[in-house]
Amino acid sequence: MRHGRKSKRFNGYKRHIAADLDTSMILACAVTPANRPEEEAAPMLRDDIARQHRRREIGSLHIDRGYVGSSLVQDVLSRRGEVLCNPWVARNGTLFTKTDLSINMRDRTIRCPAGQVEHFETGSVVEFEPEACARCPLRARCTMASPATGRTISIAEDEQLQHRLGKLTASPTGRDRLRERVAIEPRLAHVGRKQGRRARYLGVRKNLFDLRRAAAVVNLEVFDRRAALAA
Ligand code: SF4
Repeated sequence: MRHGRKSKRFNGYKRHIAADLDTSMILACAVTPANRPEEEAAPMLRDDIARQHRRREIGSLHIDRGYVGSSLVQDVLSRRGEVLCNPWVARNGTLFTKTDLSINMRDRTIRCPAGQVEHFETGSVVEFEPEACARCPLRARCTMASPATGRTISIAEDEQLQHRLGKLTASPTGRDRLRERVAIEPRLAHVGRKQGRRARYLGVRKNLFDLRRAAAVVNLEVFDRRAALAA
């Protein structure tokens, strides 16, 4: 089963849907307060899908990167499933970004453009040798840290996944795979048109009911179009 996941903000709440990219059907809905991170919706969507006792597990999970920290991602990866989303983009002004450094996930080492190598643990901050950085000819392009400090780089808990996603974006085939998720956009747009830009109710529970109503209508319309084509 291939899943796409998408959220949109509407008047104080965010709506989230999960759809099967093979059938275009919306399988699950969630509503969260707009100030909560997307990843909090993922377990609700997963529980919604679990209640349907579907025969197939999620094989490929296509998500916005806002969901990448969710437990659902870990579930799919632990079952050797595939997670597809755009990686976080490293920014550092005009200085070298993280992508200018070479990360070796197998050896757990990171090499800077001047060739200095450090070991790392995921979920930590690596500091390059301050003395080597102090005499480095590339320093002006690398760090604005004080002279007594070396360049630092944050290594995320999910660095392995981010590393793999970064490789995907570097190849045309990988970019094609990442674009498969856009198939969920029309589903979300249709739901948005049914619900409008303003939440109809106060409170998550009632708005979730309204979102499920809109999603059911959108699914029925998909059935209807298919039946008309088959007739
Ligand atoms: S300043 Fe330090 S981390 Fe940056 S390129 Fe030079 S040696 Fe490497």
